[in-house]
Amino acid sequence: MACTVSHDVVIVGGGIAGLTIAWELARAGRDIVLVEASEYAGGMLRRGAVAGLDADLGAESFATRTTGVADLVADARLPVQLVEPAPAGAHVAFRRRSGRVDRAPLPRRALVGMPADPLAPDVVRILGRGGARRAAQERLLPLSAGEEPSLAELATTRFGPRVTARLVEPLCRSVYSQSADSVRLSALHPVLWEKAQALGSLTDAVAALAPAVRAGSAVRGVEGGLWRLAAELEAAALRAGAVIRTGTPVRAVTGTSVQLDDETLSAAAVVIATGPTAAAQLLYVEVPAAPPVGVVVTEIVADGLDAFPIGSGVIAAPDVDSAAKALTHVDAKWEWASAALPAGTHLVRLSAHAGRHDELTDAVGVATAVRTLTGVRVSPADVRRVVPVAWPDAVATPPVRAAVAEAAATRGIRLAGAVAAGTGLASVVPHARALASDLLSHSTPSEGARHVR
Ligand SMILES: Cc1cc2nc3c(=O)[nH]c(=O)nc-3n(C[C@H](O)[C@H](O)[C@H](O)COP(=O)(O)OP(=O)(O)OC[C@H]3O[C@@H](n4cnc5c(N)ncnc54)[C@H](O)[C@@H]3O)c2cc1C
Repeated sequence: MACTVSHDVVIVGGGIAGLTIAWELARAGRDIVLVEASEYAGGMLRRGAVAGLDADLGAESFATRTTGVADLVADARLPVQLVEPAPAGAHVAFRRRSGRVDRAPLPRRALVGMPADPLAPDVVRILGRGGARRAAQERLLPLSAGEEPSLAELATTRFGPRVTARLVEPLCRSVYSQSADSVRLSALHPVLWEKAQALGSLTDAVAALAPAVRAGSAVRGVEGGLWRLAAELEAAALRAGAVIRTGTPVRAVTGTSVQLDDETLSAAAVVIATGPTAAAQLLYVEVPAAPPVGVVVTEIVADGLDAFPIGSGVIAAPDVDSAAKALTHVDAKWEWASAALPAGTHLVRLSAHAGRHDELTDAVGVATAVRTLTGVRVSPADVRRVVPVAWPDAVATPPVRAAVAEAAATRGIRLAGAVAAGTGLASVVPHARALASDLLSHSTPSEGARHVR
């Protein structure tokens, strides 16, 4: 039988964005309900058992370009330990003119693959002398004020094609799940774009902004896995009085109501904090289907990996034929993982190229990809466990984000999560907290609010 229950705020979606808002509002005494379609809250922060430990199957680190995550951990007093990755840094795999696949550490100082010092030895190692000399000319070229080209075109015209092929494209694909052809720098890294406009050079802008540390150390993680951040935040939200209903898909929303299968929740405000496609569906916006993001977490026993030959991981240039576009050597990256694994056992995570996830779901496919990307001899028998995960709603392109934002604003519905803030916890968490603060400043707890603290 249908019934209607009223609340201060109903949040649709229990990923890190929804959980952050739930905690903020509940601790301020608001009567809030969070409804989550799947059986577990956390969204793309999810754990899975591999090699005897609870590994991350989705996000595994957060960028330190904002203090958003660290602030949340401190303010919510979450019992998690934030940790630095091992200093080894990541590599890039690319094909030399001879046809041989080579691997080299990513440049020490670079942003979105663009080097701060094109003639530095670590850049020359990847681009070759000719490619590096071409990249060094970037500072001499006038920066045109016309319409912004795609990131690929920008990088090629400014730095030359090798920078695009060996650095920008692999980084863009592995970090942002998009081709550099289909995105603009101003969308991926607005601060860098603005700095380049101000300084008249991308090289100078990167030099001004890039941390003078190893690639990869612009991120942090959580001891035991990033999934623990969501688990502890959920616990904090529950303690503060939030109601979290999992296994409860939302079918439709308005600015003041949320339709479940056999129940309607009404509220002074409704927040959509789902993935981009789910948000578009709830808002009746037609968007093209984005391919799922495929990840495979595997347990491998192979001596060749003991010395961490590719540091914390490797990203692949497009000319390297592999079903995986990136590989994270989890126990090389995180000391807690290395300490938890038996000697000789490795935790390796592969990110699949769009449409090639199926090639990585068995030991043969995994061994092939690991061999290609690391250069280490790994046989199918060395691959002890394969856990494939497909994330169906992980990519929010700028046009989808714009269309969804407009539809939400028109209907008086608040929008949170990566669809509103951009991909990654460093953007999602501060955005969610700002939204919660805005909701609080525009409302007082309803009479029915049960928790005031
Ligand atoms: C493989 C992978 C690796 C990543 N690595 C990193 C990383 O290292 N660092 C980083 O910062 N970011 C990373 N990201 C991105 C990051 O995980 C996301 O930007 C962030 O977690 C998004 O959080 P969210 O709350 O917006 O959405 P989500 O986590 O997607 O949560 C949305 C929730 O809404 C629920 N939902 C959907 N539809 C409905 C409905 N109709 N009714 C009710 N509930 C619904 C979903 O079940 C889901 O739980 C990664 C993502 C993936 C997929």
